[in-house]
Amino acid sequence: MKITIESLALQAASANKLRLFLDYDGTLADFAPSPDDVLPDKELIGLFDDLVSMQNLLPAIISGRRLSHIQKLLPVKGLLLGGTYGIELLLPDGKQMNAFPYEKLRPTVERLEPRWRSLISGKAGFYLEDKGWSLALHGLRAAKAEADIAFLSALTIVMEEIADPHFRVIQGYRFLEYAPVVANKSKAVRKVLDEFTPGDAMIIYIGDDDKDEEAMEVVIDSGGYGIKVSSKPEKSRAQFTIHDPSGVRFWLRRLYSASRSGADN
Ligand SMILES: [Mg+2]
Repeated sequence: MKITIESLALQAASANKLRLFLDYDGTLADFAPSPDDVLPDKELIGLFDDLVSMQNLLPAIISGRRLSHIQKLLPVKGLLLGGTYGIELLLPDGKQMNAFPYEKLRPTVERLEPRWRSLISGKAGFYLEDKGWSLALHGLRAAKAEADIAFLSALTIVMEEIADPHFRVIQGYRFLEYAPVVANKSKAVRKVLDEFTPGDAMIIYIGDDDKDEEAMEVVIDSGGYGIKVSSKPEKSRAQFTIHDPSGVRFWLRRLYSASRSGADN
């Protein structure tokens, strides 16, 4: 019988152990005009308060946001949190580990910050996000012609002036980020699977973008399941698709209620 998204929830609810990876923006919460506009969401926090009470569940949120910001958005005990694409990991017991020394990476971000800032000064619709470990330029609300010039110039500055072998460029739609090479969701997922997940655990990854796609491949290659969050057909190795963040929340609630009814039986 073909497994459906519904039967996946039932199977996950009754698995001995379930390692569940989740992205945040675009997966658990809708995108905001700028990343700082996203505030803690009571409904989502309540959902995770319920989920962490599940006996079999090992939840991990891996985000491009800083760990400190993810902690504010999801102040729930028992979660494994990965910030800056997993370079910063906070284990459920409160122990924090970084994949690389912050002081070795920060000077490059500080050299780049004024250069990118000068590109967008006085221009509307841009947002420069200093994530500590990395620097991200957002231009979703900028005029197209200005955005085209600014992003090309930003890339040129990185290549000509700030090239640091410890960093890589992450590109998206009107988005450019200069981030450490070790800030990589698939590396973070590999580490969490190898070091903090029982070998017989069922594994599921839910995410919406290309960074998630990379990480999802690690999960699928390990025998797990990928759920792509997308409202349109996209090339993905994920076995399942959910339309949008409210659909993800619905599925997580389904997972929780299935585990409850299993516990009552
Ligand atoms: Mg996302």
